[in-house]
Amino acid sequence: MILDGKQTAQTIRCELREQISEITKRGLRAPKLAIIIVGHNPASETYVANKMKACAEVGVEAERIAFESDVTEQQLIQEVQRLNTDPMVDGFIVQLPLPEHINESAVLSAIDFHKDVDGLTPANVGRTVQGLPSIVSATPRGIRELLARYAIRTEGKHVVVIGRSNIVGKPIAMLLMQRPYLSLPGMSAASLGDATVTICHSKTRDLASICRTADIIIVAAGCPKLLTADMVKEGVTVIDVGINRIDDPASPRGYRLVGDVDFEQVAPKAAYITPVPGGVGPMTIVSLLQNTLQAYTASMNQQQSA
Ligand code: NAD
Repeated sequence: MILDGKQTAQTIRCELREQISEITKRGLRAPKLAIIIVGHNPASETYVANKMKACAEVGVEAERIAFESDVTEQQLIQEVQRLNTDPMVDGFIVQLPLPEHINESAVLSAIDFHKDVDGLTPANVGRTVQGLPSIVSATPRGIRELLARYAIRTEGKHVVVIGRSNIVGKPIAMLLMQRPYLSLPGMSAASLGDATVTICHSKTRDLASICRTADIIIVAAGCPKLLTADMVKEGVTVIDVGINRIDDPASPRGYRLVGDVDFEQVAPKAAYITPVPGGVGPMTIVSLLQNTLQAYTASMNQQQSA
């Protein structure tokens, strides 16, 4: 069965639009997201444009804050500090990558974790690790939501995560191994998390035999056809996070996007599998909107109790 991220994201967008419309009908302001972009990287421009469009669709106010690529680290951190204290901004993100002369970690660490809707600050990551309420980064949140919406249980399952990045591999592994603390629609809290997780990476020996023992495989490596049919058991669930451009003279753009999984060969053996495109990608964008609403709600609740 195909795990349809596009359709699921559409459903969630409708839910968000309704929730935000109820908020504004009560006379309250809409949630606001700010996006800092540095330079003119075409991929970043596209990602930011897509995020702005997604905000508009659900009624989140969005502001694009652009800097030239010669901006200094200090100037960026000053902007982060300004947004930290702007009461009209509920959440903001810094579109990555940043130019080489800027220390990404220094900029991200300056973000107030309450407004860190990309969930990348050390504070949010630490809170996630400790099982405290946190803002979870968008891709792991989207994967968890997709599993939940298809009622795929993780407790007691062996999950193999391929890739150990800070934005996908590490946080999704952490979420799925944790004792559950957060309930999502369509699923009891008890069925989220509680998995036995193995994290694999570029130095892992005999990836194939580890994968063959997996009930669920999450691949976030950036290698086309890394996961092949001989590496999976019958009935496996496969979540393909990879986005890779491969040459395709038949396509008008001259390339097409593929994931990290040999989809044609693996799909017949899989109980559930995500396509690329149309799987994890749309879930990632909608998760950013959910995180913004989460930050807005937390801030409103705090103002009311103050
Ligand atoms: P990354 O590029 O920072 O790192 C890749 C990871 O994969 C590393 O930890 C590396 O050890 C591991 N790896 C690489 N080759 C491997 C191999 N042959 N065997 C085992 N492990 C291997 O990771 P990232 O930023 O998480 O991105 C991974 C992929 O996911 C990329 O294609 C990226 O474009 C995509 N991505 C997609 C989304 C989405 O919304 N769909 C979001 C983020 C990243």
